[in-house]
Amino acid sequence: MAFFPFHMEIRTMKRENIVHFSGEAELIGFNDIDGTKQANTDLCIQDCRNDLDIVHLNDYGIIRHSSIPYATITGKTLTPATSIRSANWHVTMNCNYNCRFCFYKNMIGEFKDIEKTRHILETLKNKGIEKINFAGGEPLLYKNLMYLLKMAKDMEFTVSVVTNASLLNENNIRELSSYVDWIGISVDSTDENIEKELGRGNGCHVEHVQRVCELIRKYGMKLKINTTVTKLNYLEDMKTFISSLRPDRWKVFQILYMKGQNDDALDLILTTEEFEAFRRINGGLVLNNGATPTFESADDMLNSYLIIGADGNILLSNDNQRSSVAFEELECMELTELVDVDKCLERERSYEWN
Ligand code: SF4
Repeated sequence: MAFFPFHMEIRTMKRENIVHFSGEAELIGFNDIDGTKQANTDLCIQDCRNDLDIVHLNDYGIIRHSSIPYATITGKTLTPATSIRSANWHVTMNCNYNCRFCFYKNMIGEFKDIEKTRHILETLKNKGIEKINFAGGEPLLYKNLMYLLKMAKDMEFTVSVVTNASLLNENNIRELSSYVDWIGISVDSTDENIEKELGRGNGCHVEHVQRVCELIRKYGMKLKINTTVTKLNYLEDMKTFISSLRPDRWKVFQILYMKGQNDDALDLILTTEEFEAFRRINGGLVLNNGATPTFESADDMLNSYLIIGADGNILLSNDNQRSSVAFEELECMELTELVDVDKCLERERSYEWN
């Protein structure tokens, strides 16, 4: 049986020192300050007594990282993760909502080349992608969604669906739960009038989201809430509302301008100070699992995602403008040629998705 050769004690969480590792190893436990055996697969960062050893306990094991070389556990050496591990696949650009700030608003089409699905997923797997977010448009409008989700799950990706929630009901939530690990739901305000003014539904979005979040938890999937901050909501305190939804993660985005997509929403664009005001009001929220909100400025978002478009090609956002690269080119390119790796890793190190 593997054992951990270092003595450590938990004192404080120290998020800024998170270091992610990748590799394979047997998960082992350690004794915390009470002598209790811990073998937790959740994100867990320990600031040890000597202030030197910051360890990351994840699905792969426990690593002492401050003293190089890294601990070798059950004979397999773990190395710091330096690669991009997630991708977004926008399977359809069709949507039943009409959010003014939507930065895909004038894109059209849906993924039709179904026989290419396995090739796309295998290529992503070979490139080290571990998690896929299926998004849109509204992905539940895409008739082949379940086929793609099942294939991704069979190939052992962590599978996520990002939806405006409008089409979710108990039947499809139950069905999704066979293949989906995470569901991301978009809600930007507790005020139905603001949601309606933004184009997020017709005045009953907030109420519907509350019902749907209950069901997502009932069927055992993890829940992420996505909020876009605009001129209409940047002074809103959403903490009590978000807590009541009991998400595993709350992701907050500054409205992003994309030429040719949301040019008619310039009146909703925020200054940096206004986005910071939302962060000041809401940033102190601690979710049930101990997680805190993740904030992404417009600049954080640009070029920091690996995105597959509805045509199956790679979608880029250079200079706040959409362009694309043929998917086949990915086979002879590094992901780092397409995505700003520093921005991407900064986001990925803020949570563990398994
Ligand atoms: S729900 Fe999403 S895809 Fe649809 S219009 Fe709104 S932001 Fe765009």
